[in-house]
Amino acid sequence: MHPDPAPPAGFKPLRIGLTGGIASGKTTVALQFSALGVPVIDADQVAREVVAPGTGLLAQLFASFGAELRRPDGSLDRAALRQLVFADAGKRRQLEALLHPAIRRRTELLAAAAGGPYQIHVIPLLVETQAGSQYDRVLLVECPEAAQLARLQARDGCDAAQARAMLVSQASREARLAAADDVILNDAALSALGPKVAALHQNYLALAAAPRAPDPAAEHRAAEHPADR
Ligand code: ATP
Repeated sequence: MHPDPAPPAGFKPLRIGLTGGIASGKTTVALQFSALGVPVIDADQVAREVVAPGTGLLAQLFASFGAELRRPDGSLDRAALRQLVFADAGKRRQLEALLHPAIRRRTELLAAAAGGPYQIHVIPLLVETQAGSQYDRVLLVECPEAAQLARLQARDGCDAAQARAMLVSQASREARLAAADDVILNDAALSALGPKVAALHQNYLALAAAPRAPDPAAEHRAAEHPADR
């Protein structure tokens, strides 16, 4: 296979926001793009990295929300933090004010370092947080509810009622479809995903190579978060 041509100087990689319901197959699909050499930036991973042991932000969290959130190994007790902010909107806003700028800065650093004609940004809550306009395209991993429930139970060891409760706490299927530019249906064996990912890869390479108007997604990011630039 020929290597993808190097992008011209000043080129900004196309950003694809990859989303989908819980256990729909986002990680599985992202891994397949990664195997094709596409940079993948995972929002959940970034959110963990910014509060890794030893970071200033983690020390700030302990100072602001209590040292009891510190596990014996020095890491953050995420479940305890979630519980702490769950019923307290003020604390939740305070937490978000600390986390979000750090997450944005790290995402931009990773994106700039990763380069590529295009990048996959895995954003599980893209629809719930109405973040679609921050991406050049939104790719939805969709899977029938029965398969989603079965995969969730098999992977997490939860029962049918718990799995269903997780599904209903998320955006509706209709809302996700309405936000999507592209849909990858993950309704069959894993081996069926390869050709679908390969076809999207070709589309995204072609889109990335086509002349582009000024990047509205990048302008949106800059307008929304001028302090982070
Ligand atoms: P989460 O929302 O929890 O982060 P996810 O959307 O990233 O999940 P995956 O972790 O990729 O979903 O997939 C969920 C589970 O379903 C995993 O155990 C994965 O191996 C399995 N899975 C994904 N796609 C298929 C498939 N086509 N056939 C069988 N199993 C699959």
